Amino acid sequence: MADQSPKKHEFQAEVKQVLDIVIHSLYTDKQVFIRELVSNASDALEKLRYLQLTEKDIYDESLPLEINIRTDDKENTVTIEDHGVGMTEEELVENLGTIAHSGSKAFLRAVEESGGVSENLIGQFGVGFYSVFMAAESVEVCTHNWEKDGKSLLWKSDGGGGYEIEAARGERRGTKIIVRLKEDAKEFSDAERVKEVLTQYSSFVQFPIMLNGEQINKIQPIWMRSRGEISDEEYNEFYKFQADAFDDPLFRLHFSSEAPLEINALVFVPGENPERWGFGKTDPGVSLYCKKILIDSKPEGLLPDWLRFLKGVVDSPDLPLNISRETMQDSALAKKIGQVITGRFIKMLEDESKKDPGKYEEFYKQFAIYVKEGVASDFKNGAQLAKLLRFESSATEKGALTTLDDYVSRMKEGQDEVYYLYSPGRDMIEAGPHLEAFRARGLEVLYLYEPVDEFVMTSLGKFEGKTLVSADNADIELGAGAARPGEDALAEADAKDLCEWIKETLGDSVNEVGVSGRLVDSPAIALNADKFMTPSMRRMMKAVKKDADIKYSVNLEINPGHKLIKNLPALKGKDPETARLVVEQIFDNALIAAGYLEDPRSMVDRLYRILERVAEK
Ligand code: ADP
Ligand code: MG
Repeated sequence: MADQSPKKHEFQAEVKQVLDIVIHSLYTDKQVFIRELVSNASDALEKLRYLQLTEKDIYDESLPLEINIRTDDKENTVTIEDHGVGMTEEELVENLGTIAHSGSKAFLRAVEESGGVSENLIGQFGVGFYSVFMAAESVEVCTHNWEKDGKSLLWKSDGGGGYEIEAARGERRGTKIIVRLKEDAKEFSDAERVKEVLTQYSSFVQFPIMLNGEQINKIQPIWMRSRGEISDEEYNEFYKFQADAFDDPLFRLHFSSEAPLEINALVFVPGENPERWGFGKTDPGVSLYCKKILIDSKPEGLLPDWLRFLKGVVDSPDLPLNISRETMQDSALAKKIGQVITGRFIKMLEDESKKDPGKYEEFYKQFAIYVKEGVASDFKNGAQLAKLLRFESSATEKGALTTLDDYVSRMKEGQDEVYYLYSPGRDMIEAGPHLEAFRARGLEVLYLYEPVDEFVMTSLGKFEGKTLVSADNADIELGAGAARPGEDALAEADAKDLCEWIKETLGDSVNEVGVSGRLVDSPAIALNADKFMTPSMRRMMKAVKKDADIKYSVNLEINPGHKLIKNLPALKGKDPETARLVVEQIFDNALIAAGYLEDPRSMVDRLYRILERVAEK
């Protein structure tokens, strides 16, 4: 037999940091640890119930699947015991000595930003177990994993630098956690106090919770009950239980369907975007059940990726009970279930956005990125989802949002394209030259502020049969409008000559130079001659490949009615060098307005040279 003496282990550095915060935080309600331990016990029982479907040899097979909580106010302890899967020695080290994901850094940042440990943070960052040290002087974890040849083990720690693991004797399957309470947490050795903490929460646990031998919860899955008998509070409590969250959900969808598939689903939009802390991509949050048995708590492939922010439960008796998680992922049945939920969910958002636009916009502020991801990536639902997009536009007030549907309803007679412009801000779009022609003709332009927006529009391609086009596109035929050159504009032939000279001067940096029918107030405009390589697409590609030289192709159009342009032919006769500098500068200004120019240095040099010449005169 191997060495029987306790093995000492150090906590991983991140765990130490987290423990330090959790233990010394003054803001936190200590009681949260009971919830976390019960939730872990429940998870362990769910895992065991799943194993019972697939494994034959389970240790202590006949033990009931329940959670036992015992309080002892003489010893100052509270003990939480389950007969779930238990842990091996490696699992003890892995699960109770490290933090799996890179979550601790994000956790620490979130704590800093929100000015303390809130309950919400503990659940979200998967540091639940460590919350026990808010109340514990020391903790003992006695465990035996589910395998027949597993070992009885004891894990001990006082939350300082490390923990010990030693062999134990005669443990039954599962995990028993003995919490020795600190002076200021004595209250949790009192049964009434513990019961109080568990009241709302325990009714969602799918296993009996026994408090000192007496069952304190009724077991009836909320998603199988009828909507009419469930209060908002109950729904919200369930969300918190299921998502390990402490906020209230923004929206919920509870439905059952009979055909073509039998489904009971209860899903929620969280109160806050789970990816807002830069925590990276979250795992899917809608658990898959079959006849009330948990099949997979994070099923990949059930819902499309963009719906990973949803939390909740889907139960379908049509799934084969012994479906493995691996086959589930590419199961056509699971996809069909997912499609039903996705369709219903989009419909629900649409209804809500009409019923209460303000609330929908609150949702959109936080979750727009997922909607956009869906529009760009979900071929089945993209078109429907596009109705959920919101933009400012030339027809809205600053800050007010409009829909593509509304845009279409405002389209002018004969207009068959939907126009948009990307720029980081409203002021920049409205001050730039691209809007002029559209404004002059009374054509509405959507304002896109996020770099991904343009990509989303390009992926979508069309809305209700109307092509979506960037207003800086050189191919747009606007026809005659208010932007007709005035009486004293350059004559056609002179303008043509000027264009040729400009093209010669600028060389290969410009694709074509022509006379513009678009411009009113600006001397010139740069238009995108390559539909694919839009300025924001180029920026996105550059962000991926830092020093790549990604070419673009632009046309320059000049305004023959603008004073600066009108004076050019004479200047080029008198002072060709200054004329050349002026043309180069006009081109750079047009590139800036269109979002192409990234390195302004050479332009600044040129500006000085122009200024020198002006000052000489
Ligand atoms: P999370 O529950 O979010 O994974 P926790 O800190 O609450 O994070 O728990 C860490 C891990 O420890 C769990 O994922 C699980 O693997 C293990 N664990 C905790 N409690 C138990 C238990 N009662 N039975 C079996 N494993 C447990
Ligand atoms: Mg947990």
